[in-house]
Amino acid sequence: MRLIGDAVPFRPGEYVTVTVPQAPHAPRLLSPALPPSLDGKLEFHVRAVPGGWVSGSIVADTRPGDIWQIDAPAGGHLHIDDSGRDVVLIAGGTGLAPLRALILDMLRNPNPPRTYLFIGGRSPRDLYAADMLTLLADELPWLTVIPVVERIDDPKRPDDWHEYTRVDIGFGEEQYLAGRLPEVVAEHGPFLDHQVLLCGSPGMTSVTIDRLVAGGTPFENIRFDSV
Ligand SMILES: Cc1cc2nc3c(=O)[nH]c(=O)nc-3n(C[C@H](O)[C@H](O)[C@H](O)COP(=O)(O)OP(=O)(O)OC[C@H]3O[C@@H](n4cnc5c(N)ncnc54)[C@H](O)[C@@H]3O)c2cc1C
Repeated sequence: MRLIGDAVPFRPGEYVTVTVPQAPHAPRLLSPALPPSLDGKLEFHVRAVPGGWVSGSIVADTRPGDIWQIDAPAGGHLHIDDSGRDVVLIAGGTGLAPLRALILDMLRNPNPPRTYLFIGGRSPRDLYAADMLTLLADELPWLTVIPVVERIDDPKRPDDWHEYTRVDIGFGEEQYLAGRLPEVVAEHGPFLDHQVLLCGSPGMTSVTIDRLVAGGTPFENIRFDSV
């Protein structure tokens, strides 16, 4: 979802409280996928949670001209410090949104740290932002994007949204690493002198922390949020 309106005073990596017209009494937390801009442009990545009251309606019923109320920026766990240490970003699903805001914010830094983005899904079509990430990785010498999927072929079951948004650019088959995101990331560690930022479902976040720490990454090097 892309919105334009009053500038919202959040920092990249934070989340905000969003109230949509379909559910005026059920605010939900969402993570802006763009860094803050003075001209008030916002982008959100929303997953329709099965059985969810609000997210499904956001995806199915949002129309141009809808007015969303955005309040209460909060968070702050997901930030890149100025130590210059290499950055490891780990995104499950829409956990990509705040990490993408941080990557775009680093474009303002004349000397951004070396950054590795692991993004995971069950199959390639879960990596919903593959086109944008491919373009960014091609342009930014300090950014490496590593797509991780549990299976290289998409399920036979059709996914209307994926078909509707299908694009020609994206990851080549040879770029995917096979496996579950927590294990694949941990195999690339330990991250002894890195800042590791992790965002995904609560389950994915806690398993990934366990694997990283078991592999020798110090817990204090890890910052995380669950979506
Ligand atoms: C800090 C933070 C940032 C977030 N950022 C984003 C974001 O950028 N994009 C985004 O799409 N969502 C994000 N979320 C999740 C979002 O706030 C809602 O929880 C989610 O959209 C579900 O709301 P709902 O009203 O549809 O479901 P509800 O009606 O609240 O829940 C219905 C059922 O779904 C289950 N459920 C709720 N959330 C999830 C989930 N995430 N995965 C699986 N099952 C779930 C509940 O346990 C319940 O059984 C964020 C959450 C947090 C805490």
